[in-house]
Amino acid sequence: MDDKLFNTYFRSESIPTWPCPICGANSLSCSDDQFKKQYKTPIDTSHPAFDPDWIEYVFSMNLKCTIPSCGCRAVCVGIGNVSQEYLDDGSGNWDWFDNFEVKFFEPPLRLFIPPKETPSWVSKALETSFSTFFSSPGTSLSSLRAALEVLLDELEVASVNEKGSFLSLASRINLLPENFREIVEPANAIKWLGNDGTHSGFQVRRTDVIDGYKIFEHILVELYPEKKATIEALVKRINEAKGVGRKA
Ligand SMILES: [Zn+2]
Repeated sequence: MDDKLFNTYFRSESIPTWPCPICGANSLSCSDDQFKKQYKTPIDTSHPAFDPDWIEYVFSMNLKCTIPSCGCRAVCVGIGNVSQEYLDDGSGNWDWFDNFEVKFFEPPLRLFIPPKETPSWVSKALETSFSTFFSSPGTSLSSLRAALEVLLDELEVASVNEKGSFLSLASRINLLPENFREIVEPANAIKWLGNDGTHSGFQVRRTDVIDGYKIFEHILVELYPEKKATIEALVKRINEAKGVGRKA
C-alpha cells in the first residue's frame, strides 16, 4: 500500500494519476477536455468589490485507465477554491490559483488490494469504507470496524451469547480461537480506531484511516497469505542455501 498515490488536493494544470480501482496500476488519468469546473453559486465577477476569494467551485472529471487491457472508466467529483500564492519562479510575484479537493470516486479507489482469498463479503465491506475515504474519513473508520465484524462472521466467531444477546466487538475479538490469536491485537486496534471514527468523526484525518487500512491489510495477509509470498520465501531460501541446503 502506497498512500502517497492517493492525492486529495491538486491544481487543474497538474491533475494527478491515481491507482486504477480494477487493475491496481497507477494509471487512472484524466484527458485534457474531461475536467469540468463550475462556480458553486453564481458570481458577478464585474462587481466593483469582486475578489477571487469569493469563488467556490464544484468539479467533475472523467478518468480512464491507460493500461490497454484494462481501460476501466471512473468519475471523480469534488470542490475547489481560489488562493493567492507566490509564483515558483523565484521572482517574488504572486498570482491567483485554482485549488481542487477530491470528494468521491466512482467506482471507489481501493486504498489497498485485499489478498485474493479474502471472503467476498469482507471485500464488499472494505469497498464501503474506501468509498468515503476522501469525503468523510471518520465514516471510513466506522465502516472499517464494520468490516472487522464481517470478518469475524466469516471466521465463525459467535455474535450472540447463550442468552441470544449481541456480543460487543471486544468480546468477539476475545473469542477468537487459538489459531487466530496473532490477529487479536491488530483487531483491537481496528476496534479503537472505529470507535474514534464513530464518536469524533470530524477530528479523524485521512492519515488515521490509512493507519487502519495498513492494520486491516496486515490482518488479511495473516489470514489469507498469497501463494506468491510463499513462492518468494521458497526462492529466497533456495538462493540463500545455493541449492536444497542438504549436505550430500
Ligand atoms: Zn486499470
